[in-house]
Amino acid sequence: MNNKPAILLIYTGGTIGMVKDFKTGALRAFNFDQLVERIPELHMLDCSIETYSFETPIDSSDMNPDHWVKMAQVIEDNYEQFDGFVILHGSDTMSYSASALSFMLENVHKPVILTGSQLPIGDLRTDAKENLITAIQVAAIQENNIPVIQEVCLYFEYKLYRGNRTSKVSAELFNAFTSPNIPHLAESGVNLRINKPLLNYAQPQSPFTVHKQMSTNVMILKMFPGIQQNVLEAILNIKDLEGIVLETYGAGNAPTEPWFLTTLGEAIKKGLKVINVTQCSSGSVHMGKYETSTELKEIGVISGKDITTEAAITKLMYLLTKTDYSDFKVAFEAPICGEMEE
Ligand code: ASP
Repeated sequence: MNNKPAILLIYTGGTIGMVKDFKTGALRAFNFDQLVERIPELHMLDCSIETYSFETPIDSSDMNPDHWVKMAQVIEDNYEQFDGFVILHGSDTMSYSASALSFMLENVHKPVILTGSQLPIGDLRTDAKENLITAIQVAAIQENNIPVIQEVCLYFEYKLYRGNRTSKVSAELFNAFTSPNIPHLAESGVNLRINKPLLNYAQPQSPFTVHKQMSTNVMILKMFPGIQQNVLEAILNIKDLEGIVLETYGAGNAPTEPWFLTTLGEAIKKGLKVINVTQCSSGSVHMGKYETSTELKEIGVISGKDITTEAAITKLMYLLTKTDYSDFKVAFEAPICGEMEE
C-alpha cells in the first residue's frame, strides 16, 4: 500500500514555466509537461505528485476572479484524492490570489501552497527549483497522517508565509515577498523550521466549503496630497461600485477638508463600503488616534486594521457577495482566516 502523501501540482503560469520568445526576447508561458521534465528531482521526493495544468497558462498580470474560481474548482474536485495542493503562479499577483483563495476555500483542512519564481526554471541561476521542491515538501508534511499545514500559504525564497498576509515587494530580488504584520510560518534552512503556534486551523468538524462568487464592483484608491474633489466624485460615481479600499496615510489618516468628508460620507450613506487600510508597508489603522481619522470613523468608514491591500480588496470582493451577516462593518472588521488582527 502506498502511504506517501499525494500532492496535486496545479500550473497556472508565471515566470517559473516561461521561455524566451526567440524573436522578441520577451518571456511567455510554455507547456507544463516540459516544466516537470526539467526538474527530475521531483521524482526523488517522498510523496506522489500528479499535475494539472491550466489549458492556457497565463502571466499572472492577466489574473482575474474567473481564474481564482477555476483554481478553487480544481481543488474542490480533487480535495478527497489529495493530501495537499501546490499552485504554480506568477509572482506579480500571487499575493492577491493567495488572499482570494484563503476566503474562497472556507475551512480548508489541507495545505494549499502558492509558489513561483523570479527566473524561469530553465535559467542557470533559477530560484524556481528550490521554491517548487520545498513548496511540495511543505505540502507533504504530515503528523499521524494529518497535514501539518492546513491553510492557504505562499512559499518563496526559503520562507513559508500565510498567503493573505503577504505582499510582493521586489521585482528584482529572489526574496520578493514580505509578510509585514506577522512573522513567516516556516523557514527552510538546513532543517525546515515550522513556527507551529502561528499556524491556523479551522474547526476540525467544520466542512470544507468552496465559495465561487466574487464581486468585481470594487476599486482601490490611494490617497495623495493634492487629490481633487472632482477626482473623488468621479470615482464614487462609478456605476454599480459597491466598495472601495481607501489607502490612507500612516495609522489611517486622510484629509479633513469638508469636501472630502462630505463626498465620502454621502457615498457611504448611499451604501458604498469604504475600507481604510494604511499605505505604509507595515502597521495598522487606528481610526480615532489622530483628528485626521476621527471623522472617517464617524462617517462610517470600516477599519482594515493591519490587513494588506491585497487581502482587503479580495475580502471585500468576497464579503460583498454574502448576506449571512447583520452588519457589513462588523463582518469586515472580524478576521475570517488570519488575514487581520482581532
Ligand atoms: N510576470 C510574471 C507573472 O507574474 C512574473 C513572475 O512570474 O514572477 O506571471
